[in-house]
Amino acid sequence: MNVINVTRSSMPPMEEYITEIRDLWDSHWLTNMGIKHREFQSQLENFLGVPYVALYTNGHLALENIIAAMDLPKGREVITTPFTFASTTHAIVRNGLIPVFCDIKADDFTIDTSKIESLITEKTCAIVPVHVYGHLCDVEAIENIARKHNLKVIYDAAHAFGVTKNGVSAACFGDASMFSFHATKVFNTIEGGAVCFSDDTLVQVLNDMKNFGIRGPEDCAYIGGNAKMSEFQAAMGICNLRHLSEEISKRKKVVERYIADLSGISGIKLSAPQDGVESNYAYFPVVFDRYKYTRDEIFAKLSEHGVTARKYFYPLTSDFECYKKFQTAGGDKTPVAKHIAANVITLPLYADLSLKDVDRICEIIKS
Ligand SMILES: *Cc1c(COP(=O)(O)O)cnc(C)c1O
Repeated sequence: MNVINVTRSSMPPMEEYITEIRDLWDSHWLTNMGIKHREFQSQLENFLGVPYVALYTNGHLALENIIAAMDLPKGREVITTPFTFASTTHAIVRNGLIPVFCDIKADDFTIDTSKIESLITEKTCAIVPVHVYGHLCDVEAIENIARKHNLKVIYDAAHAFGVTKNGVSAACFGDASMFSFHATKVFNTIEGGAVCFSDDTLVQVLNDMKNFGIRGPEDCAYIGGNAKMSEFQAAMGICNLRHLSEEISKRKKVVERYIADLSGISGIKLSAPQDGVESNYAYFPVVFDRYKYTRDEIFAKLSEHGVTARKYFYPLTSDFECYKKFQTAGGDKTPVAKHIAANVITLPLYADLSLKDVDRICEIIKS
């Protein structure tokens, strides 16, 4: 049986990586903001068109650190969505803040901005929206609400690397954006992540925080952890960045084939492209809404044929055992998110997935 995984990490030609890491055998400098780290950071600042990038060993710690860097008082509320990866909600709660779950839109799965203001209380201090599957949130509406109520906006942009809106990269919205460079993402540094921001006072804070809070040889300014990106990760990033546009165009071809195979079928809902948005084709979500089979039946059937799809995101983070104690938890308060989580799957998608395999996957779904 021809087994198809849900994803397959992008890797540069091996020789290219070896060339990139060869210097490290000369320098013996493997981490702690070495030459690869600094080079990759400045490449990203250029590529993303953002004043500052701070590199991390993974996306989750990047998000935890930028929330911490905003210095939001413990016990205050943060408006976010439960239709996301565990990381988003965990990063809020691990900072001593309380997640308040807002519903999402049924068309692009991002936060429903018409429902944000009714959730704002005197304890609200920030909004943490998610660019789900690389679909951008309604950044203008979020900006207006944040300004009016004096709230910080930190985007979980883990899915949105390489996405632009009217030519502006996803890195440029809100007070900060976090990208994940995990092996399963469109662009990877094996494990890795970054925070993008424009406030220059955050440069030192984030640099200290990811290195135990150490400032200078004899003092710590913060009770920081360790979240630095290593030289080997940065070298992988430098190589993969060279191939990003090629990877995205290959993914686009796969997505176009899926759309051709699955459009116009009653009960199968595909996402429409967003106005002005240049996608990175990170995921291919399909919502089964009164289709002849349920999402779970499709998932099982694909799996019988050696095809791994993903119930992504299911369950809602607000339904996790660890969040039961939050008053705001439970999918009932976010009915759209609950409905989507119960009926969505993301289909296999990676640059080298053959169109023949795409056809085979779609045949299984349709037959
Ligand atoms: C992958 C992901 C993260 C976490 O990033 P890591 O690099 O795996 O730590 C956070 N949020 C979302 C939405 C993600 O998909």
